[in-house]
Amino acid sequence: MIRAQAWPPAIVYIRDPGDRRWAKQRGPFIAVPYAPSAAIMAHESHHVAQWWAITLAAGAALAALAVGVPAVPLAVVGVAPGVMGLCMLIPAFRFAAEARAYAAGARIAPELLDVYARALATGYDTGRSLDECRAAIIARL
Ligand SMILES: [Zn+2]
Repeated sequence: MIRAQAWPPAIVYIRDPGDRRWAKQRGPFIAVPYAPSAAIMAHESHHVAQWWAITLAAGAALAALAVGVPAVPLAVVGVAPGVMGLCMLIPAFRFAAEARAYAAGARIAPELLDVYARALATGYDTGRSLDECRAAIIARL
C-alpha cells in the first residue's frame, strides 16, 4: 500500500504482511514493514525532514553559486537531492543523523531506548560503544 504523508512531505510504501525487511528512507520516500509503529514512522520521518532541510539548503546555495559565478550552470541545482546521500557517507554526519532519528523514535517509545542504542552501536559501522550511542540518543531527546 502506498500513501502520502503531509508532514514532512513523503510517500510511504507499507510492505505486505510477512515482508520482514527493515524500514528505510531515500529522499522523500519511506518503505516500512506492515503496520509500522509510531516510533518507526517517527524515525524514518525524521530522516525525510533531514533530507528536505539539506536539499532545500543545498539547492539555495547552488542556485546562489550559479547566479554569482557565470561559469556555473543553473542545472547544478539538480545535484541538491543527492547531497544528503553524500553527507551520509561521512561517518560523523551519519552517526549524528541516526542518533537524531533514533531520538525521534525514543520520544514516542522511551522503553526502546536501549534497543535503539544497540541498533546504532551495531548496525551502522560507527565504531562507537553502546554507552556512547545511548548517550548520543539521550542528548538529542
Ligand atoms: Zn535511520
